[in-house]
Amino acid sequence: MVAGRLISDEIFSPKGGERRSVPRDSSRLLLGLTTLARLAELKSQNRSSSDPLEGIVSRPILRMLLGALGYREPDFVAHARRVAILAAGTADYLGWETRQRKLLEVSSLVHDIGKIGIPDHILFKCDKLSSEESELLNLHRNIGINVLQAAGVDSEVLSIVSEANSHFNGATNGFRRIGSDVHQGARILAVADAYDVLRRDTENDQPLRHDEIIRTMMESAGSRFDGNVIRALNRWIENAGLPFADEDGGQGHAAVAAPDTGEKAVVDASFLCHIFSYLYFVESMYDGLCLLDSNLRYVVWNNGLEKLLGRRSDDVLGRNWSSREVAFADSTGREHTDSDNPIQRAIEGGKSHTSTSRVQHVDGNWIEVELQSIPLFDQAGHLHGVAQIFQDKSSGGRVPEYHELKMAASRDALTGVANRGELERQLATMVAEYNQQTEPEPFSVIFLDIDFFKSVNDNFGHAAGDQVLVDLSKLLQHEVYSGELIARYGGEEFVVLCPGTDLDQARRRAERLRTAIFETQIGDLPDHRITSSFGVTEIEPDDTAVTVLSRADNALYISKESGRNRTTALTRALAKSQVDVEAAPAADNSPSPQLTETFDACVAADMIVYKLGGFIDDHRARLIEVKPEFVKMQVGRRGLLPFWGSRDDRRPVLLEIKFGDGQSSRGHGAKKTAAQTKMTVSVQPIGWIRDQEQIEQRARRVIKDLRSYFVAN
Ligand code: GH3
Ligand code: MG
Ligand code: MG
Repeated sequence: MVAGRLISDEIFSPKGGERRSVPRDSSRLLLGLTTLARLAELKSQNRSSSDPLEGIVSRPILRMLLGALGYREPDFVAHARRVAILAAGTADYLGWETRQRKLLEVSSLVHDIGKIGIPDHILFKCDKLSSEESELLNLHRNIGINVLQAAGVDSEVLSIVSEANSHFNGATNGFRRIGSDVHQGARILAVADAYDVLRRDTENDQPLRHDEIIRTMMESAGSRFDGNVIRALNRWIENAGLPFADEDGGQGHAAVAAPDTGEKAVVDASFLCHIFSYLYFVESMYDGLCLLDSNLRYVVWNNGLEKLLGRRSDDVLGRNWSSREVAFADSTGREHTDSDNPIQRAIEGGKSHTSTSRVQHVDGNWIEVELQSIPLFDQAGHLHGVAQIFQDKSSGGRVPEYHELKMAASRDALTGVANRGELERQLATMVAEYNQQTEPEPFSVIFLDIDFFKSVNDNFGHAAGDQVLVDLSKLLQHEVYSGELIARYGGEEFVVLCPGTDLDQARRRAERLRTAIFETQIGDLPDHRITSSFGVTEIEPDDTAVTVLSRADNALYISKESGRNRTTALTRALAKSQVDVEAAPAADNSPSPQLTETFDACVAADMIVYKLGGFIDDHRARLIEVKPEFVKMQVGRRGLLPFWGSRDDRRPVLLEIKFGDGQSSRGHGAKKTAAQTKMTVSVQPIGWIRDQEQIEQRARRVIKDLRSYFVAN
């Protein structure tokens, strides 16, 4: 067992047997951030004065952050160490005093902490990043800064890391630091970082030699890099030699021990990953976030808020909240006082408080915002802080930034998770990469669909149904790792893409999600428990995005068919045997009753194929035979069980369409109408049917549906 209490224990452990309440306002993860701040505070009270990191960062927290980075990718920690050694060596050569050098060393160790939350397909991409991907990378760097803020890291470290990011990685920070030059530490960090990247450049088989690296960097001296710093690094290495030339990682120099891989470290690491994915969600959906600790001191002030209110984080962090620090007014312009304001109301009410408020920009102007104030209580009811999330409502004001536009195009408006388009884009990339590599990493797809969701709408109303979708999305975001993509596929169907995950791991992950959904109160539905069914599959050689997704979908249907609230994992071999069953019309069903109808298609003959294509797509029909005058397809599909299902799409039928006799006729009346083609349609059920009436209903519905594609032009 683990010695001591895990941070994550406090956040995640449900009380025995109790149904957890849904993290409706996401307070669980924000609570996690305040816990980080509280630990940092505790540690700084108990620190020993001989610790060289004193006041810069708490050593256990630094270890935890690096542990999480190493959990994501061990190479990142090794890189961070080498950069720290190079930066400290350069600073030493330049005669920096000990404390400044330590600040720089810590900055170097944590400079890549934002990488914890970046999805694999961007993190490990060999080609140049697209502008969208760079934008995403910057977003994550900002999130990294917010986590460092919460972790109580010295403000100078925050400046060094964020300036190194914004000035040397091409990040568009947007905040103008008028009159202040780039921090000297940021210049050294940027050079040390680039040196190590160039030295280990794996694109060239032959890594660059020292003099080649220096020459390459000098080409950007004055713009990207500081030439004096490059020269100092060069001389230091020439004098002292490269300390880790033998690739030992230079243990002696860096300020921390090897990240541990014990249970506690892993739990803490995955907890941090959750926080990253939540902050990512906030960053992409809202305009600003700040976090106050239990003493109502600012511990997080994000980049969005810097821009919204024109105030830099280092002006605000560590200060106590008061109505003079950040001024708020209600929608009528009446200013809030220290005793009557959204924060107090949220604390007193014990729950999240949303208001339309005005907040004062540093230039004195008032900005209209939708403000969410979220009190953060632990399970024992103790207040650990308050989070505030800002949504800019000022009319015609801000021009949405590129990533926001991108988010709007890639996010589902109701739930905030990725939309179907984004899912398809990302899946296509993953499939392409999988098929290119000789020893590709596996990945898996989880498909889930809420059970009997229609009855939620029917019994509780559409708005209650929407709330279920929102709550379920939040739950999924809380439960998956940051590298995974959650998407709303449509209606009440969601897909989770799991990189680096094989079928068995994915099945277990799906089971964990299924159980969490089952155990959680989702939506405001008295005495109603939400369950969902899952289908899982792993990519196999020669899969396309379509085949892998439809295999997961098939697996989901098996779960539905066999009773719902369960998970089915399907390989291609298994799926094939299922398709064979599906394709074979039932032999024991003689004579097959059928319904035949003839009607005129009110579309031009050459449009028929398009209209028919639409019908096939919308109904996920399977073409069986196609001739110029005749088409045969299966509509609806059969599961493993030989019965007709309870829903239309579980009632497979053969649909045959014969097109006219090759002649087209003119419509009557004064107006010229489109050419008409006679269509003769017949429907015949597949499978074992107990109820004759069902067949007729189903057949009538299929024909009516088909007609609707051809009667309206
Ligand atoms: P099953 O267990 O077989 O999945 O049954 P079901 O009722 O969940 O499935 P069905 O596909 O019959 O019904 C899905 C319902 O989801 C129908 C549709 O009205 C509803 N729905 C789709 N999108 C939304 C939405 O955005 N909000 C709400 N409230 N309902 C939606
Ligand atoms: Mg459903
Ligand atoms: Mg559905």
